[in-house]
Amino acid sequence: MSIKLEHLNYVYSQKTAYEKKALNDISLEIPHGEFVGIIGHTGSGKSTLIQHLNGLLRATSGALYYNGENIYGEGYSMGKLRNEVGLVFQYPEHQLFEIDVLTDVCFGPKNQGLCQEECKERALEALHLVGLKEKYYKSSPFELSGGQKRRVAIAGVLAMRPKVLVLDEPTAGLDPKGRDDILDQIAFLHKESDMTVILVSHSMEDIARYADRLIVMNKGTVMYYDEPKKVFEHYQELEQVGLAAPQVTYIMHDLVKSGIPVRTDVTTVSEA
Ligand code: ADP
Repeated sequence: MSIKLEHLNYVYSQKTAYEKKALNDISLEIPHGEFVGIIGHTGSGKSTLIQHLNGLLRATSGALYYNGENIYGEGYSMGKLRNEVGLVFQYPEHQLFEIDVLTDVCFGPKNQGLCQEECKERALEALHLVGLKEKYYKSSPFELSGGQKRRVAIAGVLAMRPKVLVLDEPTAGLDPKGRDDILDQIAFLHKESDMTVILVSHSMEDIARYADRLIVMNKGTVMYYDEPKKVFEHYQELEQVGLAAPQVTYIMHDLVKSGIPVRTDVTTVSEA
């Protein structure tokens, strides 16, 4: 299920006074099963880019191939693409609305036309995957904490069993503990499944720990697309555009990737 973009451009409000080029000549390929981080400042084009991946936005020009098929080709099923590429928007908990957690997570599979039993099975599996305790399954989503609500929202997308999971700033608005918990859970999800995970963030610290590859966006273009180690070699260039993270983040990436548990809620010891 690789995703390949070729010279993709996107212009908002084309041919109006508000015309804005948001993506400029993006070419890249995301192999199946990778954990890819997309990093860049607000306005660099991250959200615009990911909305192309499940066909929510259609490129102004250029091509996008999903699993070798041109998604803009005649007869291509966008419905199927949307089932396979699950998108978790920013502040996804704003879209929770059902009476209890389990019913909410069932919503997606129900919409896919699956029977009640299958919906429930998938919802239970998804809630287990996001690590929400069973005692909350019958609670109203509105009674939960911020981090728990976000888990429920992510479970809602997982219940559709996507092959690609795209998360737009999943840690926005959470405290440091909630942020680390969600990121650890996403890393766990990736490890436990063969899903491709694409995680958007404006924080190098957040994504550098887990991603196999980083897409660094700057002003609608891809500045770098490489393994974190290779990207970090451009420390000075990253610093110039305000995207560098403290050196310790890069060291942590190596530790996490070699399987050594790293607690980030413990402040680093200062020099004597
Ligand atoms: P990011 O996700 O990195 O913050 P976006 O993809 O949201 O960036 O935005 C990229 C650029 O496109 C920005 O300049 C933003 O102002 C502009 N933009 C985003 N959404 C719209 C829209 N609906 N209409 C016009 N311009 C938009």
